[in-house]
Amino acid sequence: MTTLACEPEFEQAYEDLVSALENSSLFEKHPEYKTALKIAAIPERVIQFRIVWENVGVSQPSTSQHFYILDHEIRLRDSNEVQVNRGYRVQFNSSLGPYKGGTRFHPTVNLSLLKFLALEQTFKNALTGLNLGGAKGGADFDPKGKSDGEIRRFCTAFMRELRSMSTPSRSRESTFKRNEETDVGAITSKCIGANTDIPAGDIGVTSCEIGWLFGTYKAETSLWEGCITGKGRALGGTSMKPEATGYGLIYYVGHMIEYVSHGEETFKSKRVAISGSGNVAQYAALKAIELGAIVVSLSDSKGTIISTSDKGLNSDDIINIITLKKKRKQLIEFMEPSMENSKYIEAERPWKHIGKIDVALPCATQNEASYHSFSAIGSSNHVIEFRNHVSEHEAASLISAGCKFIAEGSNMGCSQEAIGVFEKTRKENQKHEAIWFAPGKAANAGGSVVSGLEMAQNSQRASWSAKKVDDQLIEIMESIFKLGIDTAREYVELAEAEGELPSLLAGSNIAGFCRVAAAMRAQGDWW
Ligand code: NDP
Repeated sequence: MTTLACEPEFEQAYEDLVSALENSSLFEKHPEYKTALKIAAIPERVIQFRIVWENVGVSQPSTSQHFYILDHEIRLRDSNEVQVNRGYRVQFNSSLGPYKGGTRFHPTVNLSLLKFLALEQTFKNALTGLNLGGAKGGADFDPKGKSDGEIRRFCTAFMRELRSMSTPSRSRESTFKRNEETDVGAITSKCIGANTDIPAGDIGVTSCEIGWLFGTYKAETSLWEGCITGKGRALGGTSMKPEATGYGLIYYVGHMIEYVSHGEETFKSKRVAISGSGNVAQYAALKAIELGAIVVSLSDSKGTIISTSDKGLNSDDIINIITLKKKRKQLIEFMEPSMENSKYIEAERPWKHIGKIDVALPCATQNEASYHSFSAIGSSNHVIEFRNHVSEHEAASLISAGCKFIAEGSNMGCSQEAIGVFEKTRKENQKHEAIWFAPGKAANAGGSVVSGLEMAQNSQRASWSAKKVDDQLIEIMESIFKLGIDTAREYVELAEAEGELPSLLAGSNIAGFCRVAAAMRAQGDWW
């Protein structure tokens, strides 16, 4: 019997990986990789910390409460209140490069979730072919409803704690023989730094929060260095970062469409359903529209917008939604003034409401089996069972809706059962009848790619043009697609002559794992 804590998200991600590896000939051809799996499944380091910060507080009810006595002195009491949150950084694997992965501020953040995301990130980063290890971090802090000042104070407190981990204390520091010019290691945290661990943004952490985290790092270390990616341009951020994951997703799916149609078809006139309306969803929608697709849906944590027009949502709609989401508002607030050719469905995901579609892109958030959103309807608050991943039932609906391509823009955007349905349909049908599934670790790797390119620019003290970054993103997304196909052909039985499509699920999992396992062996992590 295991004495380990239950970690449902992490266990699911690990099981997905194991089943992809076991249902292939990998362990027959390389039995020694079973040892690698046992070792690679455990994070190298997990850091947990407490974040104490102050909110804005409410005004005091009576004048007498403005004052209190400390050490016989009468002091003025401010109205702020002390707040506390839990912070984490899961440094999963550094065999291919420094730890790299996003930071999430969301009330659902816990260790299981971050271990799952860090595991995914490790193999995703490996697929990019760049020198990136894998990590993920964050806090159970909810930026929604907080003022800028509160979020800034929280970011400062978060970065101070993260940076102070493993930093020698003042008394220990004084026992070190220090050379201020060269011995940066003595004052640099083991947890974060341009060559150690480079966080990025994720849900709840935009370039604005990244700027505050960067500023705190710089103030604490006196180092202006690429310690974090997703920065604004003035702070050494790269062009194309906001667009990276959404665009990368569309580039990847473009290859799926081309592969199935032997280059005859593109996104043009394809009906595309998207869930979510955050960063990934927004830029996936814009790129799809640019390529001539018809985007029929977007959603958020409270409900779904479905276009009722044959033309779908247009780029002005998406730009307005970007502005709305920057203000942390809900899609429902966009409906009344602006949306004539759309309907809003509360507490629903798009998948059963979209009519005929060709492509489905889950881009909201992961398989959060235990998360229920709280929504105020009428006068009372009540709980809505509103899970975000594509369920088994919805998978069947997508197939009935004629969907031929499904790619995860979010991490674990589909449930295990739904993936089972997609993979079974792929296996049993010839390519024109099949639905083809692409896992997030391949399809949404564009953000990691451009983060890696930001690190390269920071190291060179250079700033590349949007075209240069976009060209590299296009090239790397193509190589990730081809690697998935080639690896599936090498390790998974495939009736290609009968029209079976290679499993991108298996190919991407095996390819990412093999790269990490080989690098670990080369540096003596297993033998
Ligand atoms: P954002 O925070 O910008 O957007 C998240 C979206 O998900 C919002 O529309 C949000 O709605 C919605 N959402 C949150 N919780 C729920 C829920 N329980 N049910 C339904 N919808 C929900 O995040 P990103 O777009 O950056 O990221 C989306 C996903 O993609 C995440 O899984 C992330 O890890 C993954 N990803 C992101 C990358 C990036 O570069 N941004 C890179 C690779 C993966 P609301 O506005 O109401 O909160």
